[in-house]
Amino acid sequence: MSGNNEEKKSKAEKLKQALFLDNKKSGALKLKEKHIKKAFDFASDYMRFLDLCKTERETVEYCVDVARNSSFSAFERGKKYKPGDKVYLNNRGKALILCVVGKNGVKNGLKLSIAHVDSPRIDLKPNPLYEANNLALFKTHYYGGIRKYQWLALPLSLHGVVVRKDGTPVKINIGEVSGEPNFCITDLLPHLAKEQVAKTLSKAFEGESMNALVGSLPFQDEKGTDLVKLNIMKILNEKYGLIESDFTCAELSLVPSFKSVDIGFDSSMIGSYGHDDRVCAYPTLRSIVDLDVVPEETVISVLTDKEEIGSDGNTGMKCEYLKYFVMDLAKSEGVEYHHVLSDSKCLSSDVNAAFDPNYSSVFEPNNSSYINGGVVVTKYTGSGGKSGTSDASAEFMGYIRDLLESNNILWQTGELGKVDAGGGGTIAKFIANMNVDVVDLGIPVLSMHAPFEVVSKVDLYEAYRAVSSFFKA
Ligand code: MN
Ligand code: MN
Repeated sequence: MSGNNEEKKSKAEKLKQALFLDNKKSGALKLKEKHIKKAFDFASDYMRFLDLCKTERETVEYCVDVARNSSFSAFERGKKYKPGDKVYLNNRGKALILCVVGKNGVKNGLKLSIAHVDSPRIDLKPNPLYEANNLALFKTHYYGGIRKYQWLALPLSLHGVVVRKDGTPVKINIGEVSGEPNFCITDLLPHLAKEQVAKTLSKAFEGESMNALVGSLPFQDEKGTDLVKLNIMKILNEKYGLIESDFTCAELSLVPSFKSVDIGFDSSMIGSYGHDDRVCAYPTLRSIVDLDVVPEETVISVLTDKEEIGSDGNTGMKCEYLKYFVMDLAKSEGVEYHHVLSDSKCLSSDVNAAFDPNYSSVFEPNNSSYINGGVVVTKYTGSGGKSGTSDASAEFMGYIRDLLESNNILWQTGELGKVDAGGGGTIAKFIANMNVDVVDLGIPVLSMHAPFEVVSKVDLYEAYRAVSSFFKA
């Protein structure tokens, strides 16, 4: 009897609604049009930030400016701060701590949100410039986990800093403004790739062949060698006062020169270089500078460096610069810093791989994050048998779920692909090692680590709302 069946079905549907996780449909279905409009507005601000900030140095400089304009002042060691005070600590121009002192100071622990501001790119070697077959080229050394073939035959701009022999640093930024020259790494024509296409991907593209094209005209003289290289050095000397040995005292990177763009007929997504991890850094920055209340506990946003190469170095998260900052804060309040850290909570704000229908075989659909599914909470990363990760506790996951749901934030969970498909890590483990409760909370990305990555505007806005709610909770 059909009526009876319908009744049974609706009972089952009701029970399913109460008991099942509803993650089969697009999360955006749960959002009102007004909410989506707000997400699009936030995304416009983010896209302006993306186009101005392509390296960690440029990002930190931009964020210091924003912080200063929002009443943050440079942190002074030994100074006693009171609730509501806003300070920043700029670590070597490449990492930044932003802090708002809470009503309770640091004695009950801190609320931390940490994202990284370095992205995969092509660095120059310390002695980069050479001439071959009447062309001038830069030797490069790639930075981070890139798929080398993706960086060939693309317009690249040159960003960074060079310290001249007299000690003065010179900022370099060539190729972002229309009319300025770009650079590129050439690719092999298909007509002559017969041997290359038979190789495995890891053998077909070699780091040592990733030399960037930087010039072709010789210095006008009938005699002499290396005249094309000489002409480039002459231009660099006239424009920036550089001599060749200055390259050894430099941090110069080639990054894609294109700007961020809307993706899709509905303009619902953003295509850009460097979403990983500026798509989390921007919400982390905005959450602390937009804070309109004095929080209960002291809140800290950290924009860190060197994540893409393992977090080593004095601007990376393995360095103790954050711990030292907490020590200084704790000392000024007469509290033990290790007690402060032990009572602290942290959102490690980093991207996860969004389920990609073009490569569905590497994803497990029940435990992947999806575009427009909202902010993604990644309980653990790592590879193989959870090697090299901090696995967030059930209790802390419970705290995060309650935080997100009580603030109506669209969220999802996600692993980084199938169990044995590969793996990766974030800074979460370095924070956990300081005895802090931490979980990864970030944004799903398509084409992660490609020169052109894709994220959703809705997910970006939910990340901003998530970090803001965490700071205010
Ligand atoms: Mn990342
Ligand atoms: Mn990455």
